[in-house]
Parts: sequence; structure tokens; C-alpha cells
Amino acid sequence: METRINLPQSEIPSAWYNALPDLPTPLAPPLDPQTQQVLTPDKLSPIFADALIEQEMSPERFIAIPDEVRDIYALFRPTPLVRAKRLEEAIGSKCRIYYKNESVSPSGSHKTNTSVPQVFYNKKQGVKRLSTETGAGQWGTALSFACSMFGMKCTVYMVKVSFEQKPYRKILINSYGGEIFASPSTQTAAGRAMLEKDPDCRGSLGLAISEAVEDAATHDDTRYTLGSVLNHVLLHQTVVGLETEKQLKLIGEKPDYLVGCVGGGSNFGGLVLPFLPRKLNGENITFVAAEPRACPSLTRGSYRYDYGDMARLTPLMKMHTLGHGFMPAPIHAGGLRYHGDAPIVCNLMAEGLIDARAYYQRDCFDAAMLFLRTEGFLPAPETSHAIKCAIEVAKQAKPGSCVVFLYSGHGMLDLASYDAYMRGELTNYELPQDQIDQALMLCPDIKG
Ligand SMILES: *Cc1c(COP(=O)(O)O)cnc(C)c1O
Repeated sequence: METRINLPQSEIPSAWYNALPDLPTPLAPPLDPQTQQVLTPDKLSPIFADALIEQEMSPERFIAIPDEVRDIYALFRPTPLVRAKRLEEAIGSKCRIYYKNESVSPSGSHKTNTSVPQVFYNKKQGVKRLSTETGAGQWGTALSFACSMFGMKCTVYMVKVSFEQKPYRKILINSYGGEIFASPSTQTAAGRAMLEKDPDCRGSLGLAISEAVEDAATHDDTRYTLGSVLNHVLLHQTVVGLETEKQLKLIGEKPDYLVGCVGGGSNFGGLVLPFLPRKLNGENITFVAAEPRACPSLTRGSYRYDYGDMARLTPLMKMHTLGHGFMPAPIHAGGLRYHGDAPIVCNLMAEGLIDARAYYQRDCFDAAMLFLRTEGFLPAPETSHAIKCAIEVAKQAKPGSCVVFLYSGHGMLDLASYDAYMRGELTNYELPQDQIDQALMLCPDIKG
């Protein structure tokens, strides 16, 4: 039995897979936040690089990966697919469990798959500086890594609660040459307005996005980048699923379950989307999304148009949302605290093509500890949701099933969370219904 299925460098995909033309129902178009009319690409150009706007709406099924991007992918790709034999034994599983290990990238998570092309296209267009937000810090790290590869400047707004929980992220981002501010910051009008209202505000991803978008919109040489949610981000992440498909084929496996955690939906989308054509062709592959009970957008959110950020600067997107004003509890999986989800993932969810499950953070840390003590690697708190879910799926599935989950990142900079877990200080949050109802009241009332 092969434990680690490695591919040679020549097997790094030469094109990303674009799911847009294969969706069973067309994606609801993004709307202009002011007029609520269908958004035209020119509205996005002060914020995003042109090539990325084009990819966001592309009808092409495959989009070539530029050589410059593949060269940097080659520093860590193809990533290994690993059979978690010792985990299987520990849970008495009759199923085979594999994990696709995206934690081997320089920044320690899958986010490098999209930060590299995003920086590349911006650089090519002559942009000098990129701004972004980061939740747990992985996206900020991935972007500052990519900026250092291409010689670009990088400004990161990091949600304050995570900034304080994870001080080493700041050091790492600074080491790559990026600058970083705790959000809400005094750098932007959105940040200053929040600080005036609530000087002790711990921040949210929605607010940090407002700050980063404002920074880009008010500086000519600066563009904004987003580490999840958008179509072009999921597009770039499909290298994960495309490689996984080749690796499974190499050992004669056919996946029955594909499992990933969902914050904005990019690692999950990257794993499952390349398998969508096979699923639509009748192959029995179940896509399972795992999210926190403290931020249950897929399982309890409303499927409707909402803003991507708190200050209502981003386009309106149709998604499963908890409301753009939602302030999540300070759970340790900072990357899973977003109020919405990728429109592509939500479209498939609404079509009944995705099964979503929500978990308490302590149960996820239990699963992470079991993984650590059997397979040896320390997972990110976000990733622990995928592990918890994969274990549950393997226990419930027909014996002999093949379960593949995406190991989205390592937890070496999240040790404070493990410390809190081992001291018994982790709290299980479940979002109360009245909080969801209240946040949803602020969503715009748009049919469609
Ligand atoms: C950002 C992040 C996530 C969640 O984001 P998605 O866009 O849903 O993938 C999950 N795991 C890790 C390690 C992350 O850094």
C-alpha cells in the first residue's frame, strides 16, 4: 500500500478548471452595491486587476496557468495525497481515508494557490501595491509571500481578535516585507468610524474587507485582493482537485466522499469543483462541507443577495449569508468566521449537490488531537473541521468507501489555541437564532 502518493513536477496542472459553464443553473450575477443593477466589469477595475475580473466572468472551461505562476507553484506543488492509515485504525474505520496536504506551501495553507496568480496578474498590469484583509492571518501571509516573490508592496488589515490571538502572524508578514494593521485601524474612514462607535471593537472579516477595499479605491497604484469567496479564487484553487484526481487515478481509487472545511468556500471549492462534471454525469460522489456552529452560513444562513463586507462597499452577491453586519464569536478557527460563502458553492448547495454539516470547536479540536497523535501533523483550527467531518463520514459510510479530505493548513502558528484547548478553556458557541434573524434584517430586499 502506498502511504504518500506523490506526482512529479511535470504533473502540476497546466490549466485551472472553471466551473461556471458547467453549473446546472447559471450563477446569479453580482449587483452594484449602490444601484442594485447587474454589475458591469468597469465598476470593478479600480479595485481588481483586469485579468482577474475577466476570469471572474469567464465562460471558458479551462484557463491556462502562466509559466511564471507554475514556476512558483513548483516550489511546493504537486502536494502529496496521503493515506491516513493510522487514523483509520484509531477510529476502527472500514473506509479508506486520504488527505490532500496543502499545508506544505511556504505560507502553510492552500491560500498560496491563489495569492501567486493574483500578484502575478497585478504586477503584469503595473500595479505597485496590494491591499487585503486577513482573518486568522493565513491569507495575509500567503499574499505577503507572493508579493515578495514578485517584488510588490503589500498592506494587510488583520481582524483585531486574531491579531491579538496570533501575534506570530504579524512577524511572519513583516518578514516577507508586508505591512500589517489590526482592524479596525485608524488608516481608513471605515476603521475610524467603527472605533468611534466602539473603541473596544474586536473586528470582523466584513469590516477588515471594508478597510482594504477603501485603501485600494483611494490609491491609484493600489489594487485589492481577496483570498476566498470570488469565482477567480475558486478557479485558482482547482489545482488542488485536479491533482487529487490524478493521484487517485494513479492508485486505482475512486472517491466516494470529498470533504473540506468552509470559511468562504475556496479550499472546499478547489477540491470538489474538478469532480463536478463526473458528479453531474451520474457518478456517485458526495461533496461534504464542514463549518463551525458559531458561524453556520451554509447550514443556517439565508440564501439571498447580501454585501460582502460591513461597510457595503463590495458588490452584492447571492449567497448563504448570516448578514453582513454579523459579528461572530471569537472562535479559534478565524478563517471560518465569514458571514457569507462563495456564490459558486452556494449555487451548488441550493441545487442539492452539497451536503453541509456544522460542528462545535471543542469536537473539532478533539479530532485534531487524534489526527496529530496518529498522523503526526498539527492541523490549523480551520482544518480541524474537515478532520472532524471526515471521521464522522468514514464512521457512517458504507464499509469500503473512499473518503478524501482537504488538509487546508498547518497549525504551527495556532499553538495558543491548542494551549487553550488543553487547559480546558475552549468554549462551544452555537449561534442563537435571534442573532441570525437580527443580522438578516439588515440585508437588502432583492428578489432573485
Ligand atoms: C482561510 C482558510 C480556510 C477557510 O477559507 P476557505 O476560503 O473556505 O478555504 C480554511 N483553512 C485554512 C488553513 C485557511 O487558511
